[in-house]
Amino acid sequence: MSTTSQDVVPFLDLRPQFAEVQDDLDKALKEIFASSSFVLGPWVDRFEEQFAKYNGSKFCISVHNGTAAIHLSLLAAGIGEGDEVITTANTFIATAEAISFAGAKPVLVDHDPDTYTMDVSQLEKAVTKRTKAIIPVHLYGQPAEMDDVIAFAEAKGLMVLEDACQSHGSSYKGKMTGTMGKLGCFSFYPAKNLGAAGDGGAIITDDAGLADKLKLLRSHGSRIRYQHEIIGHNYRLDSIQCAVLSTKLTRLDNWNERRRAAANYYRQHLADIDWIKLPVEGKSGVHVYHLYVIQANDRSKLEKEFAASGIQSGIHYQTPVHLQQAYKSLGHSKGDFPVTERACERIVSLPMFPHITREQQDRVIAAIKRAST
Ligand SMILES: *Cc1c(COP(=O)(O)O)cnc(C)c1O
Repeated sequence: MSTTSQDVVPFLDLRPQFAEVQDDLDKALKEIFASSSFVLGPWVDRFEEQFAKYNGSKFCISVHNGTAAIHLSLLAAGIGEGDEVITTANTFIATAEAISFAGAKPVLVDHDPDTYTMDVSQLEKAVTKRTKAIIPVHLYGQPAEMDDVIAFAEAKGLMVLEDACQSHGSSYKGKMTGTMGKLGCFSFYPAKNLGAAGDGGAIITDDAGLADKLKLLRSHGSRIRYQHEIIGHNYRLDSIQCAVLSTKLTRLDNWNERRRAAANYYRQHLADIDWIKLPVEGKSGVHVYHLYVIQANDRSKLEKEFAASGIQSGIHYQTPVHLQQAYKSLGHSKGDFPVTERACERIVSLPMFPHITREQQDRVIAAIKRAST
């Protein structure tokens, strides 16, 4: 079967998102250019208020990207040189990088084989005298088992920071991801459930002191122009990105519902195939399917079939943090986190985005069925 470029089932198509918000966005961009207020200012304030309110948190501090959100959160919390921070081996490298950039050491644990979120039973052996914080990652859009994480952290006197970079709009026992720890970190990279037209990020918190510190840290340690209280960064988000995010935020819940409907459709049609494992939803969280990740006994066969059928797919992630060249210094080797390593060899992310059509999903389903024979 030959395929043309129109036949491709994209892994992700953002164009329909922008089509939905185009009119609002055109109006906002006109106003921004007319006012020429590009950095900080009213558009940024407005989005921060809206995103704080959406999550039910007191403060939102926008920053340049999700990595900066985690980095500044650690700095604001006073975590740095000589400290250790626990997170998961199966995450995007940025979680670990931000810990390293704060001057602390990332200490990794394995994930739960069903939900791909932090295996809380592994925390005890990861804790040392130097441990200061835990960063659970709500990976693929599914909340980590937060009651257990928080109970453990409280017992040990550790701070919890949430990496909610993949879980905008998801909740755990009625609480929004990002609001359960002391600080919640978000990325607005275009592909995320809430995405800018470029890089973006934010931190939410209920702690006024931390919020104040974060505002200083993101803009040269300055409250009054050219007066610098502390040494900071230039991690600001700009007006144009905030205008994009404000227009898209009004659609986020609807887009997450569409993702969940698409996930249901995959489930209905793939449940009987015995050589793949479908995503498992935890009992207490709402999965917002940033990614729809299955496991395949024979991944290469599936990839070949997808390539022949013009279907794009992904792997999140092929190499876990502990086996990355960049983290050789942690001294890990293969076998240290067996659940993560097994997953990394088997996982495939299927096309998933709010506007995916049934026809596109049918083609993915048919290709998987063909690979079964
Ligand atoms: C995207 C992402 C980040 C980093 O966000 P950037 O905006 O790309 O810097 C951090 N952690 C996780 C789990 C992510 O998916």
